[in-house]
Amino acid sequence: MHQATTKTKSGPSEATSQENINPWERAKRQLARAAKRLKLPSLLSARLANPDRVVEVSIPIHMDDGTVRTFEGLRVQHNRARGPYKGGLRYHPKVDLDEVKALAFWMSIKNAIIDVPFGGGKGGVRVDPKQLTERELERLTREFARKLAPVIGPTVDVPAPDVNTNPKIMGWFADEYSKILGTPTPAVVTGKPLEKGGSEGRAEATGLGGCFALTTMLEKMGKNPRGMTVAIQGFGNVGSFLAEYLQQAGFNVVAVSDSKGGLYIPTGIGSVKEVLRCKERLGHLAGCYCVGSVCDISNKEKLGAREITADEALTLPVDIVVPAALENALTAPLARAVRAKIVLEMANGPTTSEAEKILNERGVTIIPDILANAGGVAVSYFEWKQNRDKTRWEKDEVLRRLEGKMKKSASDVYESSKRRNVSLREAAYLIAVERIAKAAQSE
Ligand code: NAD
Repeated sequence: MHQATTKTKSGPSEATSQENINPWERAKRQLARAAKRLKLPSLLSARLANPDRVVEVSIPIHMDDGTVRTFEGLRVQHNRARGPYKGGLRYHPKVDLDEVKALAFWMSIKNAIIDVPFGGGKGGVRVDPKQLTERELERLTREFARKLAPVIGPTVDVPAPDVNTNPKIMGWFADEYSKILGTPTPAVVTGKPLEKGGSEGRAEATGLGGCFALTTMLEKMGKNPRGMTVAIQGFGNVGSFLAEYLQQAGFNVVAVSDSKGGLYIPTGIGSVKEVLRCKERLGHLAGCYCVGSVCDISNKEKLGAREITADEALTLPVDIVVPAALENALTAPLARAVRAKIVLEMANGPTTSEAEKILNERGVTIIPDILANAGGVAVSYFEWKQNRDKTRWEKDEVLRRLEGKMKKSASDVYESSKRRNVSLREAAYLIAVERIAKAAQSE
């Protein structure tokens, strides 16, 4: 339960095919808007509109049957004006340079918003890890670490888990890098298992961080979260922890969905732990109608519950909807059907540009991904700092520091949006680009 397991990634749905979904183009437009408004010098704009470095490596390994296969790996280092490049490594057959460039850029932005001393990076290997045995996956990771070793390091570039990579893979990566240096160097990656220098609180960090971002925004807007209804698309690591923390904060989570569909219970889904247990037992969410610890289809009528499709979670009559699954999940047709007044973006890049325009015109507030899901990288920073200082923080301390970072950042973004009369996303970009520019100018 709540394990940070491997993650899946699928392409955008057909509905998005007419929309501009090239993430790097979208990222550059976002940057250009902020640069224009901040009157950034053109040299600086050009530096931010291109990654510092793109590293392509080949990764030949022995497969278990004795044959040799060669995989391609990538690392994009966007900007390090504020500190070492920082961002995940994904293992996916469709790892694409433009997408990785955009994700590296968004990491620079995210790290600046939550004010951790990192720049942005991202990388990956073109591979379907489900086709590899564990030993092949380990050989692939260790060879990838050897190939990247000359361009990474605790003060240069610090990778982390992303789609289809996990703490175990980060443990192999750190171990291989340490062998090359001849000294234990856990701070070369974050998201490691606890026993290999990982941090307490990393698993729940993104979901809990999203809860802090939302409650801070609502407080600023003068709204009381108690009883506000929430529907969440995506019930993996992020969605399930978020659901649990939202309930604790007084929200009523009435719907959750995953890749196989979901459930809507107008009075609330009940205990998140019980729903997760039921999903594990049944293999899907449908039928997980929980009353206390009894989750059964027989409760359906009593609860007025019904099954929903994965997308329907975004268009239910609720106060807040949360895309917490995939990029480009919230498309223009769905945006027209959204009935909530607030969208909390927990996935990376879940709203297409066209959908965002529609939501803005309809007066829907979007709490942007670069703020809402920054809790994960905040705790990655805490992990790196603990490794560097050769110390360990208790979970309470990690979560207390996370709360401080998220509340301060959400508050900064809200105040800036009011002062500049711009959307929360634009305000977040302005804060981030201004901070990066300031650091770059003093370089
Ligand atoms: P995960 O793999 O644990 O969970 C993903 C969930 O989305 C699963 O429940 C899956 O069934 C569901 N899903 C997949 N396709 C779907 C579809 N078409 N419709 C509805 N649901 C679908 O992944 P996660 O770690 O929870 O990450 C979710 C999102 O949050 C991703 O966009 C990720 O990049 C982003 N994110 C995660 C973290 C983190 O710390 N895990 C940090 C920042 C951003």
